[in-house]
Amino acid sequence: MSTPSRIALVTGATRGIGLETVRQLAQAGVHTLLAGRNPTRTAAAAAVLQVEGLPVEPLQLDVTDAASIAAAAAAVRERHGRLDILVNNAGILRDAPGLRPSEQAAATWRATFETNLFGVVEVTRAFLPLLHAAPAGRIVNVSSILGSLALHSDPDSPVYDLKLPAYNVSKAALNAWTVQLAWELRDSRIRVNAVHPGYVRTDMNAGEGELDVAEGARTSVRLALAGEDAPNGGFFHVERRLPW
Ligand code: NAP
Repeated sequence: MSTPSRIALVTGATRGIGLETVRQLAQAGVHTLLAGRNPTRTAAAAAVLQVEGLPVEPLQLDVTDAASIAAAAAAVRERHGRLDILVNNAGILRDAPGLRPSEQAAATWRATFETNLFGVVEVTRAFLPLLHAAPAGRIVNVSSILGSLALHSDPDSPVYDLKLPAYNVSKAALNAWTVQLAWELRDSRIRVNAVHPGYVRTDMNAGEGELDVAEGARTSVRLALAGEDAPNGGFFHVERRLPW
């Protein structure tokens, strides 16, 4: 009897780093659920990869919508009965450029946290039973080096002047959540880590990043596919551990 393929789910996968993460996981032979909030864009993105012969399945999932999260988790339970890999990739950057940290609107903070923190927590809570049902669950939280408190406090750091407070604090909170969840999972077979993809050319920075999406997806894919020696509760860029 052949071993069933691993099942992965990538949120925010209609474009950018998420779409490329789906491609690389599927190229590695993982049956990958391409999750997106808009059903039409999600089906279209999945169709492009399916035409290439990759094992990709579209899944409607808005990480800020409790009903959408519940429906997605129910669909995965019914179709697959487990989830081996969850990549919490969906994220937004809404800080208005040119404002000082204290000047960003409250609505910006709330919208950013809804997607970048609460969305991750709620999606993870919904899929955790399915990750426990897998032989060796992996959770990858796509954070950012801009969430590093150590680097933001260091005037010599390259990120010191990049004060996008709602985004940066949401990623610092995502890192803190990763540490809390890693503690809960320490005696389980699931491993959870936060990653910085690099500064990647996507819509989020109007294509001004330094890396292409193929390089940008590498850290997420590496930790998603990590074996028995996978770390738990770390923050990584490629193989380098980053300061919190
Ligand atoms: P992107 O090109 O702007 O893509 C963002 C993705 O998130 C899109 O697919 C978008 O879907 C999805 N999304 C937004 N809100 C969502 C929601 N409520 N539910 C489901 N999906 C939602 O961004 P990216 O550069 O690929 O970023 C991916 C991740 O990497 C983010 O977490 C980002 O913070 C992180 N990151 C990026 C960089 C960089 O240099 N690009 C650096 C560090 C960290 P729609 O198509 O429906 O809008």
